[in-house]
Amino acid sequence: MNLTDRINNKKLQEIAGKVCGDIPVSMEDALYMLSTNDILDLGIIADYLRKKWHGDITYYGVNMNLNYTNICELRCPLCAFSCDMHDENAFLLSHGEIEERMNRAVGEGIDEVHIVGGLHPELKLGYFEKMLRIIKRVKPDIHIVAFTAVEYEYFAKVNNLSLEEVFKRLIDAGVDAVPGGGAEIFSPEIREKIAPKKISGEKWLDVMLTAHKAGLKTNATILYNHLETAGDIADHLLKIRALQDETGGFKTLVPLQFHEGNTQVKSKGLSTGYDDIRIYSTSRIVLQNVPHIKALWMYIGDKMAQTLQNFGVDDIGATYHNEKVVHAAGAKTPDYGTESFLRRLIETAGFKAVRTAADYRNN
Ligand code: SF4
Repeated sequence: MNLTDRINNKKLQEIAGKVCGDIPVSMEDALYMLSTNDILDLGIIADYLRKKWHGDITYYGVNMNLNYTNICELRCPLCAFSCDMHDENAFLLSHGEIEERMNRAVGEGIDEVHIVGGLHPELKLGYFEKMLRIIKRVKPDIHIVAFTAVEYEYFAKVNNLSLEEVFKRLIDAGVDAVPGGGAEIFSPEIREKIAPKKISGEKWLDVMLTAHKAGLKTNATILYNHLETAGDIADHLLKIRALQDETGGFKTLVPLQFHEGNTQVKSKGLSTGYDDIRIYSTSRIVLQNVPHIKALWMYIGDKMAQTLQNFGVDDIGATYHNEKVVHAAGAKTPDYGTESFLRRLIETAGFKAVRTAADYRNN
C-alpha cells in the first residue's frame, strides 16, 4: 500500500502526496500539521521520511557535557542556568578542572564532549583554544561539539576578530562540530520577550552560514512551549530549511521543550503529549532536507523520547554526564543516563540501537 492510501485525513493525504514527490510542504501545510489531532496519520508521514533516511536505526551517543561557566552577560529571561559574576553559585572551570573531568569521563568510555557556556566578559579566545587542546590531548579521537552561534558571535566581538577567524582558530584547536543552541525561536517579537539581548534569529542563521562555509557541520534547535505561536514555529522551520537548501550544513534538528522552572518566562505549563508529537512530526516533514531529528530524552522525558521514534525521531540523544542547563530549569530526568538505559529505550520499541557521535561518523 502506498503512503497516501494509508492515510484517512484528506489534508494529510495531500501533504503525503507532496512528501512522496519530494515537494517541499508549505507554510499552510505546516500550520495544519501543528494543529491536527490526527496524530496517527501525521505519524505515518513522519515515519515514512524517518525510514527513508534511516530505516529502523535509532542513534544515541555516549558523551560528557562540559558547561565551562555559568557567568553570562546576557541574563536572558528564559535562562535558569546563568549567574552574575559575583553570585554565590557562579563558577568558571579552570583548565586543570577541565582536564580532571576529561580524564574521569574518558575512563568511563565517552566518545564526545558537548561544550557550551555563558558569555563571560573576561574570557579571551586563548582560554577556549587551550581548553580544546587539553581535551584532544587527553583523547585525540574525541569528537568535540562546541559553542553555540551566540558564543561564536560573542568571541568575535570580545576578541575583535572576524567570525571566519574565530572559526578557523577554534577548528585548529579541535572543534569538530557546532551544537544548535541559541536559535530559540526566530520571531523578533517573541525573542524580545524571552532573550532580548541575544543575537537576532537572522544573525544566528548568518553565524551558521559562516560555520558551514568553514566546513563545520552544525545542529539547529527550536525552543517551543513558551510564548510562541504555531506561525512562529512554522516560520522557524522554514528558515532552517531555506539555509539547508543553500549549504547542506545542518546534520540535525533538535526541538527543545521549554522548562520554565527558575526562569522569568511564564509558559502554558509543560507541553502535552500531543503537542510534542505534533512538533516532532512536523519538524521531520518540513525538514525533508535535514538528515536527523533528535529528541533529547533528558528534556522530553524517556517515555516520550521512546515514543517519538515512531513520529520522525531517529536519535534520542546521549548519556550527558553532568548536564546543567535543563536541570537548572527544573527537568525531572536524572542528570545522566547509562548506555544500557538508552539502548533499552530504543530496542524495546523495536528499533536497532546504533552508538554514534554528533557527526554520525561511520554511519
Ligand atoms: S541562555 Fe545563554 S546567553 Fe542567555 S543568559 Fe543563559 S547562558 Fe547566557
